Amino acid sequence: MRLGIFGGTFDPIHIGHLVVAQVALEEASLDRVLFVPAGVNPLKVGRSITDGSHRLAMVQRALQDCPQFTVTSWELDRPGPSFTVETVLHVREQYPDAELFLIIGADNLRLLPKWKSVENILEQVTILALNRPGEDLKSSCQMMLALYPHINEQIRIVDMPGLDISSTWLRDRLVKNLSVKHLLPAEVIRYSEENKLYERRDDQ
Ligand code: ATP
Ligand code: MG
Repeated sequence: MRLGIFGGTFDPIHIGHLVVAQVALEEASLDRVLFVPAGVNPLKVGRSITDGSHRLAMVQRALQDCPQFTVTSWELDRPGPSFTVETVLHVREQYPDAELFLIIGADNLRLLPKWKSVENILEQVTILALNRPGEDLKSSCQMMLALYPHINEQIRIVDMPGLDISSTWLRDRLVKNLSVKHLLPAEVIRYSEENKLYERRDDQ
């Protein structure tokens, strides 16, 4: 099996994430993409992140009509911050014979050398890197190759049209009561409204 691992905060999940996963699935002939909502992202401490159970519920709703996309709460169920290396090793244990792919947007690829135990991650996965507006994906790939020359075959650029959409921008629109129609799956919009997830709070 060819299995893609797609981590993120998903606060909330949006069409950018879904297009990334779909294009990666097709371009790398994956059998499945596993979405992994992060516990407390070590690089995002400081901002108040929506409770993991809500972020998980939104991912579940977004994926309900996509049989090749699944979600795991593995990082959310563990105490403390999430580290991709631990997730990758866990997936490796669960799927000893799978070929693993790490799906990553250009902004995160730029930061990847700062991640914990990068070498261990690179021993397990092929990186599928996708373009994100405002990022120089090629130079981030070149930086990776300069730092880790042996990964040559193991980093692949997957072409996708730039979608300048982020959860941060969407949260801002939601707080301001602006429409996010077409930008989030309808089920996700409904869930976030029902649970009043992104309404203005005094600490914002
Ligand atoms: P935030 O604004 O809260 O950081 P985000 O939109 O960046 O949210 P994340 O959950 O941080 O979403 O991202 C998860 C993964 O999806 C990362 O690898 C990120 O690079 C990628 N990603 C998110 N949005 C896009 C997009 N529009 N185009 C390409 N990659 C994306
Ligand atoms: Mg982000």
